Parts: sequence; structure tokens; C-alpha cells
Amino acid sequence: MREDNMLIFEKSVAGRRCVTMPKSPLIADIPDGLKRSSPPGLPEVAQIDLVRHYTQLARKAHGVDNGFYPLGSCTMKYSPRLNEDCAALPGFTQTHPLQGEDASQGSLAVLHDLALSLADICGMDEVTLQPAAGAHGEFGALLMVKEYFRRKNDLKRTKVIVPDSAHGTNPAGAAMCGFQVVPVPSDAGGCVDMEALAAIAGEDTAALMLTNPNTLGLFEKNIQEIVRIIHGAGGLMYCDGANLNAIMGRCRPGDMGFDLVHLNLHKTFSTPHGGGGPGSGPVGCKAQLAEFLPGDRVVFENGRYAFAKRADSVGNVKNFYGNFLVCLRAYAYILTLGGDGLREVSENAVLNANYLMKLLAPEYAPSFEGTCMHEFVLSLEELKKQTGVSAADVAKSLIDRGIHPPTMYFPLIVREALMVEPTETESKETLERAAAAFKELHALAFSKPDALLEAPVLTPIRRADELAAAKNPLLKFEG
Ligand SMILES: *Cc1c(COP(=O)(O)O)cnc(C)c1O
Repeated sequence: MREDNMLIFEKSVAGRRCVTMPKSPLIADIPDGLKRSSPPGLPEVAQIDLVRHYTQLARKAHGVDNGFYPLGSCTMKYSPRLNEDCAALPGFTQTHPLQGEDASQGSLAVLHDLALSLADICGMDEVTLQPAAGAHGEFGALLMVKEYFRRKNDLKRTKVIVPDSAHGTNPAGAAMCGFQVVPVPSDAGGCVDMEALAAIAGEDTAALMLTNPNTLGLFEKNIQEIVRIIHGAGGLMYCDGANLNAIMGRCRPGDMGFDLVHLNLHKTFSTPHGGGGPGSGPVGCKAQLAEFLPGDRVVFENGRYAFAKRADSVGNVKNFYGNFLVCLRAYAYILTLGGDGLREVSENAVLNANYLMKLLAPEYAPSFEGTCMHEFVLSLEELKKQTGVSAADVAKSLIDRGIHPPTMYFPLIVREALMVEPTETESKETLERAAAAFKELHALAFSKPDALLEAPVLTPIRRADELAAAKNPLLKFEG
């Protein structure tokens, strides 16, 4: 077996060690009765084997550091290394969550100022940094919606309206909070169907969860009318702010009329992500909801930072203060770019997306006409009809060309969808090379479709059985 295909357990040799710890005079011998009867089943390898093992694993994964990563909706942009350096400063890393306010003034200042900056960026009155992801923020915010109406004794508001183009976390979060999820369809232009919305909204509406720009990469141009309908029905407006990268510094969810918003710091504000975290999903809200926010607020009084309880908080959604080092990266990112820099980020994200969309348009039709925001969705339905090559086949073929596939088959309302988000950190040349790869595959689909059906051929694993991998994952080594 090739060494780079072996599990670390298969490389294990009894008694081999990475590091040998000196016997500490401070630790007394553990009494026999407290010792485990057999050693834990850990791999026993030398340091060099360990280093090679993880380096080889890292080589098999595709990250932003390896190549273009246009995974729509995920904003896989380059995170400046400066922010990593800031997050590695020992003054921040070697703190303890229980060491007390007086010994944590610097960290408290970061939390305080970041929350203020984010509130300003999204046009809200207050922000909590506690949630650990976008989905987590959605959950926390919907708990607030529930508590808001409970306190008003308005118990008939049991429904949350969610567009059919929404990210799955929207209906999932609403359902977890005990709301009934009511889908609203998109119109022919890819935005919320206004007639359908007007018919659905009513005195049982607790909130509308809206992503703007939406997951088709389109700005909801009727946003003011949407707000009028929902507020008119007595409901709250929730903004899924995962797409803030498209509008940051240009317009603000709070000004559009939203009452609540979550942001994804790991998407927009410089935390490398993929593979499960850590992330951060701050929630912002208007003043009338601020006392319900999860977690404590940080206040600055008499020259000193301190925690203060929120009167009607829905409680903690996470222990302590959120993923602090993710917050720290975001704070460093905001400080280095400033207001003008943040606006340039979104302008360039939109420019890059439109440039790539135009380059691809002769071969790959965008699913909706017009200017896109920071991402666009292609439909490969026609290509599949003509050649048998699907969106998945094109995506898999891109892997062999060093490009991470776009998001596939999402949003659900577009057939054979590829959702492309180039981000602002890619150069014109990278976009042009990527467009050339897409075009080459389009031609190949007609001349030699089998080549696409077999892809990828250069990866350690070819096509995984995705259903089996999801339903019956083997996560444990059985030696
Ligand atoms: C990523 C994303 C989410 C969920 O955020 P997580 O941090 O992955 O939980 C929600 N909505 C949209 C539109 C997203 O792109």
C-alpha cells in the first residue's frame, strides 16, 4: 500500500513516540486503582511520520491556498495573513474566559468595538457576538422573535415565511424554534413573488426570513414593498446576511427595514473556513429587540470595559463570549480596511462576478437575466439535454483542472444549477483562466462527453458514492 494512502493507525508501531515527556516532579504517581486497565487506542508514530501524515492529507484537500474556489454562497475568499497574526498574539490566545474583567480589558475592548462596528455596518442598534455560525445565529434570532411575541402575549404568530430560494438553514432554524415554515415562491425574475407574499402574510406571521441579495445572486428590488407587507401584517423582518459581501459599505439591512440580521464572520470578515469551523454568526437587531439578544453585552463606563446582563435575554446560545479569535480576525480586518476599504470589497466582489458571468455567457446561460451581485447561478439543463453531461460532471471535471467546483444543485429551484461566487480577492487573470477551463469543458461535452462522465481522474478518490457516504459513513478505524 502506498504510504500516502494509509491511515495513521496503519502506520502505528507499538512503543513509537512523537514526543517523550519528562517525568514531572509535580505530578505524584497515579494510584493503581485510578489507572486505566488498558492503554487508549491511539496511533503510535514518530514525529516525522506525524508531520508527513498531515501534510499529505492537507495536499489532498483543496483550499483557497491551492487554487480558485468559486463555491457559491460560501464566500471562499482569501483571508489576509495579517489577521491570522493578530489572532495568534499571545496576549489574546493565552487568556482564560474566567480570568475576570480587570485582567481582560483588551479582549473586552475587541468585543465592544467589534459589536459597535458590525452594528454600524449593518444598520442595527445592537449586536451579539455569541453565536458560532450563521445557522446558530438564525436559531438565536428566531428565539428572540418568539420571545418578543410571547412578551406581547401575541401567541397567534406561529408562522415564519421563507422564500423557496433560501438556504436550508432558514427553514431548519425556524422549525427548531417551533415555528411552522411557510414557503413563498420566487417570481419569473428570481425575486420574491409579491402577490404570493401578500396572500401569505397575515396575523399568524411571526417573521419573514429574507436573504438579500438572495441565493440567486439577485438584489430583492422590491425590498421596501416586502417590508411594508410584513410590517403591515405585524410581523418582523429577518435578514439572512450571509451575502453581506455583496453590499457591505453600499447599503445596510437596517436601512432596508430589517429588524434582525445575522452575519457570517467566517465568510465576509476574514476567517478561513470549510471543513466545519470554527465560525461566528453575530446577530444584530433594532433597539426594540436588543434586550432579547443572547449573551451579555460589553459596556464601556468610567474608562473601563465590563459585562452587563440584558434584561430579557433569551439566554446563552453558547458558553462564554462566542468564538473570540474569529471575532478578533474580523476586528483586525475591519480596522485594516476601514469604511472605504469594506465598500471596495463589495464593489470588487460584484465586479468580479459580473465579469466572469459575461465571460461564460456565450456557453453557459445564467439562470436569470440582468446584472448579478456577488454570485450568479448557471443552469446546465440545456447542455445536459444535448450531451448527457450534467452540472455534476462539469463540476467534477473542474477538479482535474485545479478548480474547486461551484456549488451544485442549489438553489433547488434551478435545474442543473451551478452557483458561482468568484469573490473579490481573485485577479482578472485567474477569472480568465477559470473561464477558459469552463469553456474547454463545454466544447468537450460535445466532442468527447465520456471524458467528463469519468472525471475526476487526478484525485485520490474518483467519484464517491455520496448517498452512501452521507447515510452510512465509516468514521472509525476497524483494525
Ligand atoms: C452559509 C450560509 C448560511 C449558514 O451559515 P453557516 O455559518 O454555514 O451556518 C445561511 N444562509 C446563507 C445564504 C448562507 O450562504
